[in-house]
This record gives sequence, C-alpha cells and structure tokens, in this order.
Amino acid sequence: MSRTDLAALIKEQQAAYADLQARGLKLDLTRGKPSSAQLDLSDELLNLPRGFKDGSGTDVRNYGGLAGLTELREMFAELLWVEPEQVVAGGNSSLTMMRDCLIYLLLFGARDGDRAWGKEDTIKFICPVPGYDRHFTLLESLGIEMVTVPMHDDGPDAEAVAALVKADRSIKGMWIVPTYANPAGSICSQEVAARLASMETAAHDFKIFWDNAYALHHLTEEEAKSADILTLAAAAGHPDRPIMFASTSKITFAGAGVAFLAASEANVAWYLGHLGKGSIGPDKVNHLRHVQFFGSAQGVRDHMAKHREIIAPKFAEVDRVLSERLGGYDVATWNKPQGGYFVNLDVVPGTASRVVALAKEAGIALTPAGSSFPYGDDPDDANIRLAPTMPPLEEVTAAMEAVATCVLLAAAEQAQGD
Ligand code: PMP
Repeated sequence: MSRTDLAALIKEQQAAYADLQARGLKLDLTRGKPSSAQLDLSDELLNLPRGFKDGSGTDVRNYGGLAGLTELREMFAELLWVEPEQVVAGGNSSLTMMRDCLIYLLLFGARDGDRAWGKEDTIKFICPVPGYDRHFTLLESLGIEMVTVPMHDDGPDAEAVAALVKADRSIKGMWIVPTYANPAGSICSQEVAARLASMETAAHDFKIFWDNAYALHHLTEEEAKSADILTLAAAAGHPDRPIMFASTSKITFAGAGVAFLAASEANVAWYLGHLGKGSIGPDKVNHLRHVQFFGSAQGVRDHMAKHREIIAPKFAEVDRVLSERLGGYDVATWNKPQGGYFVNLDVVPGTASRVVALAKEAGIALTPAGSSFPYGDDPDDANIRLAPTMPPLEEVTAAMEAVATCVLLAAAEQAQGD
C-alpha cells in the first residue's frame, strides 16, 4: 500500500473506531458458553427423572455406583466409540476429572508406572498450540512444565511430538483436543492418532490426555468421527497410554451436565480406586435424568442437530463479516470450523494485543491475546480466539464489525510505524 493509501486507510479506520466507541457497545466474545436458547433446549431435564430406579432396580437417590449409571455409560460408550466397561460417568465437569487424574498421577503414580510423578525433579507435558487455556493454567498450577508443538489441520505435529517424547523421560504426557480443537478447529486424523498411540516414549508411563470435549459438536451435516485412540493404543501395546474425557456441558446444561472419563479397564480401575477414597458415588439422579431425556445415543445426536441450527448461523456470520471487511487486505487469516465452539483468528504479527485492547476500549470483550498459549505467551502476538456462541446473532454481527475495525486499525498503525 502506498503511503497516501495507508494514511487514508488509517483515517477511515480511526473514524470507524470513533463511531464504534460512541455506540457504547457492551459485547462479550470471550468464552465458549452456550447461549440461553441452547440451554432452553434441555429444560425438560428440570422435570426429570420420572421415578428413581435405574434399569437394575437400584434407587438412584442413594449412595453407590461409583462408575456412574450403567445405562448412561452404555449410551456414551456408543457415542465415544468405546466399550461401556471403559467409561465412567461422573459429576458435571470433565476438567475436574482431568485435574483429579493429574493429582493422582503426581501423588500416587500411574497404573503402569513405578513411582509417583511428584517424586521426579521435573515433569513436562506437551501442549499443541494454539490450545485450550484452562489446560495450560491447570498444568502451571501443578508445577508441570509445558513444551509446545504446532497444531495442524490433522492434529498435533506427530513427528515433533515423537521426537520430543523419545528423547526426554521427564515428558510424562501430552494434551490433545482431537475433535474440532479449541481453538483451531482441527480434527486429529486416524494416522496422527496411530502415531501418538504407538510412538516410543522415554517415560514408559506416558499419558495422552485425549480431551474430546467437542466429539459431538458438529457445525455441518458432515460429522467428523473421532479417531479411535483406545483401540489404537491397545493394538500398539500401550493400552494404558490414553485417558479420554468428554462431557455434556455443551449438550445439556454447562453447569449441570455429566462428565465422562474413558480408558482401558485397568486405567478405569486405577481411577476409581483413587476416586473412591473421596466419594461414595456420583449424582445418579442427574445421570437418570440424562438417560430419560435422551432416550438413546441417537437421541443425543438428534439433540446436537438442534444446537447446530442455533449456532451454525453465528459461525457463518463471523466468516461473512470478516471476509467482507478484511478480505481485501492481507491483514488476517481465520478458520472456518466444521464443529466446536471457536474461530481462530490470526492477525498481523505483533498486533493481537493491540487489537484486543482497542476492542476493549470500544466495549467488546475478547479473550486476552496469547491465552491459547502456555503462560499466555504467544511468541508472535498474532492469535485471537473468538467465541461466537453465546451472544445473539445481531450482537455477533456488531462484535465482528468492531473486531474487523480494530484489526485493520492495528495493522495500519503498525504499517505506518514500520
Ligand atoms: N475441554 C475443552 C477443550 C473445553 O473447551 C472445555 C470448555 N470450554 C472443557 C474441557 C470444559 O469441560 P467441562 O465443562 O466438562 O469441565
């Protein structure tokens, strides 16, 4: 762009930005929460359960059943392509299950390990980036160091992971969101999963935290099937390597759903052995409610189609506004996710923090720049995670118009400074 064109662009975007500020907007695209319309889809849960006995006649109001209600484990085993004996249905948060697993590993060690991880001087986890900020803050809170690898469209860079884990025994695990990853939207291919399941690791109790939070959250009719990590790992001779997590947080109620852990039967016994010291059983009333609400695994899939109808237009709107406003300039790239809850926006390197700050000043809350990287440190200061599910459609439009203005203004300011 010539100096004159650039000066004109800055002037134009400054005027657009002043208009934006004058509008006194108050919009929030920070977190991937379901909208009220989505929560309404599950209101029938509040009238359930009918009766209080499970299929075997056990009173769900009472203590017991640490692994969760059998019918619900069966339903989600089908949805997660595992066996019912490999599934635990727990409380409302899969993140809590992940944290519990890490704490058991640190305090007691893995089923296939010979000592507690906490006895090692250093423990590291591989984190594909960009990734889920709460994974990173959880590891940081436990003193587990993070080593990053790039996330590609078919999952983490498997060769980079394989080279790292072969060379360093302090690398005890890795995180992966295999389906519609937060925030990159990528889908881990069967080939990448097979490589991770079979790779040689210096730590023989290496764990893959397979966080399948968006396994069923398709945005198109083409439904990605998650790679079958438990079978792949068992076939490769590492049955205890993966621990899978999922939940109904973005299927029913984010604050009152059911979370699942799936792993080898030996790992399930290991997990329940530790869990049982602190719990006599989960909320089986909620489990029964969910079983009755869905009726079957197909009932869950049908329910997810209703979510898709509500949120797919919001994702389409993000793409429309960004394409219209930014398409003519070489200032940003973004993905068109086929599922999940996020759009991953990459702006001109060195301007992401400025974009977020400009947006904030204009009343639009965005996830802090860098939050999809360990320690909040995006080395390129380029990545911004957009979460369009929660606001109503017209607010998504307004917010994206505003984001586009901020992206352009920050890019033009930087170009002028160069
Ligand atoms: N994992 C990922 C990748 C997520 O994006 C989220 C929610 N944002 C969670 C886990 C949280 O899951 P839960 O509600 O089951 O704790």
